[in-house]
Amino acid sequence: MRTLPSRTIASASEPNDATPFLPDRRSLSALRESVQDCRGCHLWRGATQAVFGEGLKRARVMLIGEQPGDKEDLAGKPFVGPAGRELDRGLEAAGIERKQAYVTNVVKHFKFEERGRRRIHQTPKRFEIEACKPWLDEELETVKPEAVVLLGATAAKALLGSSFRVTQHRGELLDSELAPILSATIHPSAILRAPDEAARAAEREAFADDLRVVAQALSR
Ligand code: SF4
Repeated sequence: MRTLPSRTIASASEPNDATPFLPDRRSLSALRESVQDCRGCHLWRGATQAVFGEGLKRARVMLIGEQPGDKEDLAGKPFVGPAGRELDRGLEAAGIERKQAYVTNVVKHFKFEERGRRRIHQTPKRFEIEACKPWLDEELETVKPEAVVLLGATAAKALLGSSFRVTQHRGELLDSELAPILSATIHPSAILRAPDEAARAAEREAFADDLRVVAQALSR
């Protein structure tokens, strides 16, 4: 599929709501199938495919990131690239099995701009997040996790409001109707952006500490 820079394909006349594309039957498998036909916003045009959440229907923990990256867009699975490996490390350090968790994103299609042959991540805008939210709402409603972990500012602001600051509240247990246990931390890609190995190691440890708070709350 030929990919186009996403900044050239947005249009004021595009739809801005995924709701009409939700299936009648709201199982995870039906949702996963239907999301491929979603035209709720313009982001489907440049992406290879939609990337729906992955994990057990009865997962106790749901981890919610921003959007699929380059590797995820190609694989059709969430958190399989370098950031996914950081997520796996953090979960393992915290004693949470990834295969016991459900991992997903607030936006299901990869937003990027092309620079030469590279596809560079672009942060989704508010209207794109709003358009895509019905898919995440259905995942939350279907899985009903005991714990939700918001990974990064985009996911945290999407679900907790634009004034929420991950840097101020990371690793805290928050009150919300989203789930009995709710917490926010950095997106694991932030570890990869640390300037050197020492900084990466410190970020990794802080990320694992945030996830340990959730693991401890689940064990009570
Ligand atoms: S990003 Fe979300 S709302 Fe937009 S087309 Fe993809 S699945 Fe639909």
